[in-house]
Amino acid sequence: MANLGIPQNTIEILQKYNFNFQKKFGQNFLIDTSVLDRIIAAAEITKDDCVLEIGPGIGTMTQYLAERAGEVVAVEIDNKLIPILEDTLSAYDNVTVINDDILKVDVNKIVQEKNGGRPIKVVANLPYYITTPIIMGLFENHVPLKSITIMVQKEVADRMQVGPGTKDYGALSLAVQYYAQPKIVANVPPNCFIPRPNVGSAVIRLTKYEEPPVKVKDEKKMFAIIRASFNQRRKTLVNGLGNAGIYGITKERVTEVLEEMQLSPTIRGEALSLEQFAKLSNLL
Ligand code: SAM
Repeated sequence: MANLGIPQNTIEILQKYNFNFQKKFGQNFLIDTSVLDRIIAAAEITKDDCVLEIGPGIGTMTQYLAERAGEVVAVEIDNKLIPILEDTLSAYDNVTVINDDILKVDVNKIVQEKNGGRPIKVVANLPYYITTPIIMGLFENHVPLKSITIMVQKEVADRMQVGPGTKDYGALSLAVQYYAQPKIVANVPPNCFIPRPNVGSAVIRLTKYEEPPVKVKDEKKMFAIIRASFNQRRKTLVNGLGNAGIYGITKERVTEVLEEMQLSPTIRGEALSLEQFAKLSNLL
């Protein structure tokens, strides 16, 4: 099968099937072989790997994955793409395509069935409208993972990687950095896709920690505190958290704990590191 990373081959397939792009599914197909090579290299795929691909599109990256991985499972929501994938992936017997919404699929069950519950790798050029729920779903449902290597909107990749004191820092940065070590591996301009997206893109690799880098007594509580702290970014932590209605947390208690942590009573959430959020949550 022709390499779909070459623009002419993608155009031929799209014409053969008279395919119409669906904006609502975030369909921007990759047409750049060097970007595909970089994604695959960053994911360090070997024959020992079982890979989950989210949104295979016409199968461009799926072909690269099938060549290198032991097993590939690709979940695609758009049923118009299923006959195309049957065609473009016909040469491979290690690929399973599931026609479903990734947010509704039981990924833990797939990992159990396809890899005996052992950790998998996720590789995807994500639909940008649901980047955060996809990533958080994988982490919060404790899917056994080695790494997630994904193409996302450039700004979102920056948010995942930054630390306190920058404008991009927020609940997503802290959630990602609690579960994984992020590293941006490539910046990708709009002309690498058909159709071209309105935003720049980046490939980021999230290498899952075996143990989170901070010890937290109650993960759910820490994330509730983090969300409340960034919900009202301009407010001080005392006001933002004190009014959030989280069980047992009052303005007075937040003030006391900040004092114990030797932090200013007027500090904002955006100034706190993951370690400090963990300590704050444990003390509260
Ligand atoms: N992997 C292909 C490529 O690199 O050319 C396509 C990437 S395109 C940015 C995103 C893909 O995700 C599309 O094929 C789209 O139909 C699919 N998609 C969108 N929402 C989805 C969902 N909720 N579940 C599964 N796939 C989805």
